[in-house]
Amino acid sequence: MDALALAPRPTHIPERSCVACRRKRPQSEFLRLVRTAGVWALQAGVRSGRGAYVCADSPSCWAEKRLRRAFGAQAPALSAVLTAAFPSLPLQESTRRQANNASRHVQHTAME
Ligand SMILES: [Zn+2]
Repeated sequence: MDALALAPRPTHIPERSCVACRRKRPQSEFLRLVRTAGVWALQAGVRSGRGAYVCADSPSCWAEKRLRRAFGAQAPALSAVLTAAFPSLPLQESTRRQANNASRHVQHTAME
């Protein structure tokens, strides 16, 4: 019996491109915006309607100026929504601090 024949085929990862920087990335690395009745909003819950994507980890892609090409007059509102929903991304900084604390702790323990 050939186990490989039964294994599911490798999943295709759908790629999308950011409406601000045009970078192509896997869909999971984007925030999805959806247009309902002519109004763009950050998608919450069920995927429906026409979608657009912006980088989830790049606040520079949420700038009004960069959203204007895709969203026109709604760019300022969307920029505000994105910035309010994800107020800065201090992830890198806090991760680094945690790593430092961890290594300091290890050294301390080793000295005892
Ligand atoms: Zn982007």
